[in-house]
Amino acid sequence: MIKIKLSAIILILFILLSSGFSQGRKEISIPNIPGYITLKCDFHMHTVFSDGTVWPTVRVDEAWLEGLDAISITDHLENGSRRNEIKGDDNKSYDLAVSRAESLGLLLVKGAEITKGMPPGHFNVLFTTDANPLDNNDHRIGLKIAHDQGAFVMWNHPGWKAQAPDSAIWYDEHNYLYDQDWFQGIEVFNSTESYGEKVYRWAKDKNLAIICNTDIHGIVGMQYDLVNGHRPMTLVFAKEKSLGGIKEALFARRTAAYFNDSIVGREEHLEGIFKQSIEQKNHEIKLKKGFTDNIYIYNSSDIDYVLILQKKSKDFSVPEKIVLKSHETTLLPLTGITNNCDNIHEINLSFKISNFVVVPDKNLNISFKVINHN
Ligand SMILES: [Zn+2]
Ligand SMILES: [Zn+2]
Repeated sequence: MIKIKLSAIILILFILLSSGFSQGRKEISIPNIPGYITLKCDFHMHTVFSDGTVWPTVRVDEAWLEGLDAISITDHLENGSRRNEIKGDDNKSYDLAVSRAESLGLLLVKGAEITKGMPPGHFNVLFTTDANPLDNNDHRIGLKIAHDQGAFVMWNHPGWKAQAPDSAIWYDEHNYLYDQDWFQGIEVFNSTESYGEKVYRWAKDKNLAIICNTDIHGIVGMQYDLVNGHRPMTLVFAKEKSLGGIKEALFARRTAAYFNDSIVGREEHLEGIFKQSIEQKNHEIKLKKGFTDNIYIYNSSDIDYVLILQKKSKDFSVPEKIVLKSHETTLLPLTGITNNCDNIHEINLSFKISNFVVVPDKNLNISFKVINHN
């Protein structure tokens, strides 16, 4: 009798202990920049309330596990294909997910996707107060209402092959919408697609916020390698971690795109990320002909920085390409070539970061300075 009771207790204990397992949240190491918090955001995704395959709370759980700070669920307003199976208006996916987001500390931006043929294409409305009136056959009416609601609007996937087979085209209709201030951002990356220099130039010349999203319809983990990589995301440089902070930063165009191991954005933001990621451990070296000394550089971020040397010296050699691996200290070797290398006092090594693109078409330039003590 006692034996049975004991084994039953052990079994119950085992069940209780094993059910206590939970998966932890991954933390994304991209530093804050001076004056701003770097928030990791994905502002484009779908659920069963349009043509996605998951329930809205799953979007919240995925994003939280992956280390994101904020998301927006942007179901197609026009997609009625599931209306017979899934009941609810255009606010329903937000309404179902918001308390789950709040309980996890994830910021959920109320959003929707206006889905039209090209032109004008698809537009995401963020910070809508009510998505129902945005659903109008005339996109101009929907975008005007979004504007009146104080929403932030982005042009989605301008170079999506289904709507722009050759490359993205800026139509007259986009001029009209832009002149009304009915959109303020543009996706330079969507899902696995990059729209390249042409769209970077629009972001720069027309002062649009640079946006990078998944537009995920299925499960994030089936489309991206979440162990060795991350989903595409928009970095938002906010004054505070709040919905208001994100909205202010979007309208101020303080954003960058984080796609694979590349970051695309404005110079001051990219420079901030690099400088806050890197610690140069020594500021003095000894150069001598035939000998090598090193600069030790620690990279605390998740990004592998690919540096390309900009100017060679005849007196000492430096690798033309070097990768500052994430979460490692890299040795940058300097080898004396001539006897004159003893006489150089200050050395400034200039590199461009090949995976940091300043819109529209250049790489971020950085330098390391050392004093030669001989
Ligand atoms: Zn779309
Ligand atoms: Zn979409």
